[in-house]
Amino acid sequence: MTIIDETAESPSADGSQGAGRPLLEVRDLHVEFRTRDGVAKAVNGVNYSVAAGETLAVLGESGSGKSVTAQAIMGILDMPPGSIPKGEILFRGQDMLKMSGEERRKIRGNKIAMIFQDALSSLNPVLSVGYQLGEMFRVHQGMSKKDAKAKAIELMDRVKIPAAKERVGDYPHQFSGGMRQRIMIAMALALEPDLIIADEPTTALDVTVQAQVMDLLAELQREYNMGLILITHDLGVVADVADKIAVMYAGRIVEHAPVHELYKRPAHPYTKGLLHSIPRLDQKGQELYAIKGLPPNLTRIPSGCAFNPRCPQAQDICRTDIPPLHPVTERDGGELTGRGSACHFWKETIHG
Ligand code: ADP
Ligand code: MG
Repeated sequence: MTIIDETAESPSADGSQGAGRPLLEVRDLHVEFRTRDGVAKAVNGVNYSVAAGETLAVLGESGSGKSVTAQAIMGILDMPPGSIPKGEILFRGQDMLKMSGEERRKIRGNKIAMIFQDALSSLNPVLSVGYQLGEMFRVHQGMSKKDAKAKAIELMDRVKIPAAKERVGDYPHQFSGGMRQRIMIAMALALEPDLIIADEPTTALDVTVQAQVMDLLAELQREYNMGLILITHDLGVVADVADKIAVMYAGRIVEHAPVHELYKRPAHPYTKGLLHSIPRLDQKGQELYAIKGLPPNLTRIPSGCAFNPRCPQAQDICRTDIPPLHPVTERDGGELTGRGSACHFWKETIHG
């Protein structure tokens, strides 16, 4: 018999500081879509976790299953044509996939909030932002109109919208893209969730504004001690704010590591390729590297390692055997906490 001490505050396996039991844990998650083309296997056994006060970045090219994983967590795809044939999504140790509808709604409405890429389509164009922010408090907490408006102004201040008091009655189109995304962050914060999932929150913004919005999100995350899952196709944007990174390809995690280690020494050829394709200020004018080829059609994922047709290091075994997620160690076998690579040749990749 296994006895689990629910109260133990042990450090998490990946050594992240001050983290106890993970807030959210995705285990062996599989998601499929029935399409005219056949079954698209969008998520194929994803495992990741995030603790309170921790930021996990989920990185990968478009189509790698990052958003679908988030949608599974938010419970917005367990209906046709999407299905979850296998897996667990544990929130504070409880599997949300096994909960009643009402239990789930309580968590997803109050404990987990999501921020999307496109603020303009998430906000109602004919209602003032103050009204929409206040709605969170009127509907969820039964606050009066006057109190809700005061709360809306307070939130706008929190996300550093200048002259919040004067602008509370303005409509979404009267704000810049960056300010609108701040309003989305305010909406997500309103009910003081334990976890925020931000799906490409700055992709639609100018580069300078991207950094400001990302810094704000990171600052609030620390202040409220929330867990944060940051989904992105751009490692450059998250490198400064994430604690750890999970790299996805064709619905699997191909590498995971603490962020600075992954940056310094990638252990998967796909990660290497992604790192080479980040524009660098000190290399202006040089042609940008791109990984050759495209991600696979998810109804026909290549046998063996899904990345093999694009991989410069591929050998015969890569075309036949799916690589397991190997623990990554130092050259002398010394442990590297929290690192894993799903490459048959991870040793050559990191040490070679
Ligand atoms: P990303 O990593 O860019 O966020 P997604 O998670 O959005 O990728 O999508 C992964 C794949 O899942 C897509 O390429 C698509 O093939 C498939 N997919 C997502 N949503 C649907 C849907 N509603 N119907 C069919 N296929 C879908
Ligand atoms: Mg996406």
